[in-house]
Formats: sequence, structure tokens, C-alpha cells
Amino acid sequence: MTSAQIRQAFLDFFEQQGHSVVASSPLIPGNDPTLLFTNAGMVQFKDVFLGTDKRPYSRATSSQRCVRAGGKHNDLENVGYTARHHTFFEMLGNFSFGDYFKQDAIRFAWTFLTEVLQLPKERLWVTVHHSDDEAERIWKEGMGIDPTRFSKLDEDNFWSMGDTGPCGPCTEIFFDHGPDVAGGPPGSPDDDGDRYIEIWNIVFMQYNRSADGQMTPLPKPSVDTGMGLERIAAVMQQVHSNYEIDLFQALLQAAAAAVGTDQLNNKSLRVIADHIRSSSFLILDGVLPSNEGRGYVLRRIIRRAIRHGNKLGAKQAFFHQLVATLAEVMGDAYPELRLQQAQITKVLLKEEEQFARTLEHGMAILEQAIAELEGQVIAGETVFRLYDTYGFPVDLTADVAREQGLTLDMEGFETEMAQQRERARAAGQFNVDYNDQLDLEGQTRFNGYDALEGRSQVVALLSA
Ligand code: ATP
Ligand code: MG
Ligand code: MG
Ligand code: MG
Repeated sequence: MTSAQIRQAFLDFFEQQGHSVVASSPLIPGNDPTLLFTNAGMVQFKDVFLGTDKRPYSRATSSQRCVRAGGKHNDLENVGYTARHHTFFEMLGNFSFGDYFKQDAIRFAWTFLTEVLQLPKERLWVTVHHSDDEAERIWKEGMGIDPTRFSKLDEDNFWSMGDTGPCGPCTEIFFDHGPDVAGGPPGSPDDDGDRYIEIWNIVFMQYNRSADGQMTPLPKPSVDTGMGLERIAAVMQQVHSNYEIDLFQALLQAAAAAVGTDQLNNKSLRVIADHIRSSSFLILDGVLPSNEGRGYVLRRIIRRAIRHGNKLGAKQAFFHQLVATLAEVMGDAYPELRLQQAQITKVLLKEEEQFARTLEHGMAILEQAIAELEGQVIAGETVFRLYDTYGFPVDLTADVAREQGLTLDMEGFETEMAQQRERARAAGQFNVDYNDQLDLEGQTRFNGYDALEGRSQVVALLSA
């Protein structure tokens, strides 16, 4: 099955079970200023779960575009290191707003996996929260799952919206990619999550937690689930890594051609293929590279990708070229990607050109510092200089360091930053941005969102 077919099969299945199919919301949460990016399917339904927003349906299903590259869920450092993490991915979900609860939620998931997708039961593994006897009973007696492929876990299987508010136990379903992959089952000491890969998380919103930590049962408990499309596609396409699925093939090939390598399994190539998805969708949803907030997360992702291209020997701007391939691969699911292709390409090219001016020089300085290093820690002064003068986000420097088994002196870096701020204050230059010369905001305008049938479309206007 292709990813597109899996996505459709999921939505169709839940529609048949009485769920309304709801379009993906943008990556910038419209209802939550505290959240950096939409990082789960439930985000657009948060107020429905809280009861402050009413919808004409009590069951919904969606395929939600998500970014986990900052804030509470940050998988940036995992990209290129695990088989299962992306910065951008799609989360398939079904939701019950005070409608069905544990029994149906578990039955739906099990039916979809074992009957619709026909996954062999002996390759699946289930976990529940240690306190959740009810879910355990449903799995063992209701679904008849094998008790040797079942475990009870603690904090991994408890979900909460925040320090207060709705919360409750989860049950998670894993797929065993087999003994060729190292790693033990969920909860075992040698579990690193890459042999038994978590495919589906089902959250039972059952309690309301108050400021004093008291948990009271919700009058109408709800269900929130999330299954990573790329992970279930890897299962269905009988590959271990998400990066081997259909959605990534054309991107990896285009990236290889653009940087001039033929090593299709190269880790850096995977990072680039991942990052073009998150960068493009963030720009599509109205984020522009800048030096703060969401824009800085985007800038960090782009620069990281450029550095990986540079490592592979890219001789010219390559990253922006991949937007065309992305639009081909994902344009059917997200038609707005095709509409905005030219603008996204322009924004990326501009950022590439800017960073190209300092990347080579900065890398030379970093490489020299590493060559002269005694010990395992790169000095805070070097990290600061790269950041301040060469536009190297700290995580980019950390990424280079990690490849060589080194770490950064973050305390030293913070000291340099504090001194920098002090100098600015002394000079009376309030609000000075030391990466000014790299700032795109002054040259870039966009007219924000144009909310259309629940989707937003951003029109980015580059006043070149
Ligand atoms: P993991 O433990 O593997 O990091 P998670 O517990 O953080 O996953 P959830 O927050 O439960 O993930 O999200 C629900 C589902 O979304 C997961 O079961 C998985 O299928 C998918 N998912 C989560 N994070 C990612 C990611 N970074 N890339 C791709 N898919 C993801
Ligand atoms: Mg995670
Ligand atoms: Mg997990
Ligand atoms: Mg989970």
C-alpha cells in the first residue's frame, strides 16, 4: 500500500464508524499561543475536549500535519539517528468527544490494524498504563491478545494536556520489526524504541487535574489517538526505516542529485529529505526564517540542512531545488503546496544564499577548533563566535560536534551571551539584534492567513 492509500484507508474506516473527516489544520496553532507548532492531531480539537468549543459532531478523524522541532516535543536531534523520527510528519487520528470510550477505541484500532491492514498479530505488542485494569481487560479478554506480547508501563503511558486540565492513561501499539534490528520490547532495559516501533498511541482523557494535583473523573471522558503515517507506511511497505517508504524515495534521489552524491542511504541525505518537508510546510503555513520564535526554529532547520548538504560536498545552493520534488510527492494531498511552490522556493533560496556567505568560513573555524581540541568539549567562546559572527545556530554546532563524539560548553556560551547583552546595554543599544545582517524580516512581507474552509493559505510576497 502506498502512503496515500493508507491515509485514505484510515479516514474511510473511521468515516464508516461514524466519524466526521476533518481537514488538517495549519502548523501554527490558531487557538493556542503557548504552543510553538501543531504537534499532534488533537491540537485543533483542544477546546472541544475542554468543552469550550462545540462542533456538530462527537466523533472526528483527520490526517494532521505535525512539526516536532521545538518546545515540549522536539525530535530535531533524533532525525538521522533513529529510524522513526521526523521533524515533519502526518498523524492519523480518531477522536471521541464524550462519545465512545475505551472499549470502542481499542476495538477500532485493533480492527483497523489486523483486519483492514491485515497485520499479523504476532508482530504487534501492546502496552497500557500500570493503573489501567480496564484497558488491560479489554485487550486480553475482548481482543484476545497474547499476554506475552503485552506490558504495563508507567510515565510513558500517561498523558496530560498541561500541568492542569484533562489527562489520563494511554495504551500504545508497537510493531516488532524483527530480530535483525537490535533492541528489546517496550519497557525492557534494552528498549531503544527502534526494533519495537511505537505506531499508535491511544489516550483516554479520563480525569481533570486541578492546580493542587487532585484528579477528578471527567463527566464525559474522551478519546484522542495518533498514529504516524510514515511509521505505519514503513510497516506496510516492509521496510524498517521511515526513510525507506515511498514518500521519501523521490526526495532522497532529488537531494542526492542536487548535492552530487550517489550514497542514497547516507544519514545527511535523510536529514535533508526530512528538513525540506518541515521547512516547506512551515513556510507554507506562514513562518519565515528570522532570529526569534518560530522563525528561528525554521532558520535552524534550514541551516542544518544546508550544513548537511555542504558535508556531502554540495557546491551550490541545492536545498530550494527540492521544493519541486516535494510538490510532486505531496501535492495531491496538499494542493496548496503546488500553489505556493514558487514562493517557498524563493524564501529557501534567499536563506541559502545568505548562509552560504558565512558557512564555509564558519566550518573552517570549527574544524580548526576541533583539530586543536584537548578533551571532548568545544569552548563556549567558539560556539558563541560561530553563532554571533557566522550565523551558526547552537544546535547546528552541536550536530557537528556530536558526529565526532564531542559536546559543547554551554555554560561558557551563556556567559558570552550575557556579556554580549551587557555590552549592548552599556552602549545604550536596546533591542539590537546581533544577527541583524541575517534577518530576512526586513525584506520579506506576507499578508498572513486567508482562512478558507478551515484551511489557511498563506500568500508570501517577496519584495525582492
Ligand atoms: P516515540 O516514543 O517513538 O518518540 P511518541 O510517544 O513521542 O513516539 P506520540 O506523542 O504518542 O509519539 O505521538 C503519536 C504517534 O505519532 C506515535 O505513536 C508515532 O506513530 C507518531 N510520531 C510521534 N513522533 C513522531 C515523529 N517525530 N516522527 C514520525 N512519527 C511520529
Ligand atoms: Mg517522542
Ligand atoms: Mg512513545
Ligand atoms: Mg506515544
